[in-house]
Amino acid sequence: MSRLNRYLEDPDLGRMYQLVRAAGAVRPISLDLTSKCNLRCTGCYYYAEGMDQVDHRRDDDAFDLLIESEKARGTNFVTVVGGEPALEPGRLRKLYRHFKMNVATNGLIPIPREGLENMPMGIAVWGSRETDARLRGQPGKDLLSTALENYRGDPRAFFYYTVAPGHAHEIEDVVGQIVENGNKVLFNYYSDVSERGGELGYEQGFGAVRREVDRMIDRYPDMMYTTPYLNRVTTRGELMGQRWGYDVCTNLTVDNEINTHRRQTGKPYNPHFRAINADFKTTRRCCTGSTRDCASCFDTWEHFSWIMINMRKHLGNRREFTDWLSTMFAFYVVNRLVDPGEGHELLARVQARWSGGAPRQRTA
Ligand code: SF4
Ligand code: SF4
Repeated sequence: MSRLNRYLEDPDLGRMYQLVRAAGAVRPISLDLTSKCNLRCTGCYYYAEGMDQVDHRRDDDAFDLLIESEKARGTNFVTVVGGEPALEPGRLRKLYRHFKMNVATNGLIPIPREGLENMPMGIAVWGSRETDARLRGQPGKDLLSTALENYRGDPRAFFYYTVAPGHAHEIEDVVGQIVENGNKVLFNYYSDVSERGGELGYEQGFGAVRREVDRMIDRYPDMMYTTPYLNRVTTRGELMGQRWGYDVCTNLTVDNEINTHRRQTGKPYNPHFRAINADFKTTRRCCTGSTRDCASCFDTWEHFSWIMINMRKHLGNRREFTDWLSTMFAFYVVNRLVDPGEGHELLARVQARWSGGAPRQRTA
């Protein structure tokens, strides 16, 4: 019996693997639905690099053509970014009719349910009320409460919580509010693309954040999409002896000539991926940058991909395989690529098993 088959004799691992296989391979793109936004956040990769300087005239013909060409290419999953996608509910509905998708939104403009009933969406939060409002260019305002109110108990919504290295002490309170609001959490790690340094600077490392995130997984195993392994790989930038960076990054627009050399290094990459600009025609290097220094990249979505593509590196023992599979499975659950009910239950059980906690019943 192969090692893989031995690992899969565990009923939870076997079922997770079966569900992932049944859901099939993800052939993804990322798409800027619009170049407009109602905020200007400190540390927004999109405006930091002037990625809104594409020709973004309202062009529904180009949008419709893009949908058709991506369908023909076999795309089955779209990460919708921008800009603020909630400004374009009509385009969201069009996309949702053709693809599985996940939408990144700042949570301030409610995304309607009609026509978008089961669409997963990550509601961005960047810290405590004070930190969140300051980093998002709205000091004194209470953006967090607005987002919580807009998505209270909404099963489509999870909170995509970006934490800066110096803000680990805020995590417990913010997570408590999100959980109380009836929403799950996926962590992201602040990249400081505006080079503010200090409490925001990634050079100091994410050790304190990593420990606090692990504690939250331990406390709320049924409410966390971040696995301990994803937390470790992303914050340490290390996967089975490899260092994170451009040379190993797997989410690159492979047919953009800027990545020609990367394609030839022999390191795995997703051969389908494209990061498509808001003109719906041109592409860029990767979702989160064109010229950005990859040393600043702690993006959860990209690290998910790095782990997922490297299954074979995780077959050495059961623990490594469980790390890999639970993280892969978390991606499928957060994006509703598997049945959300069974998916949440299985993920919570495996999170609790690894963290030592026990799934709790929520009443919110
Ligand atoms: S809400 Fe998002 S797109 Fe808008 S400025 Fe902030 S990070 Fe950028
Ligand atoms: S910024 Fe991140 S996602 Fe983009 S190429 Fe660099 S490592 Fe990859």
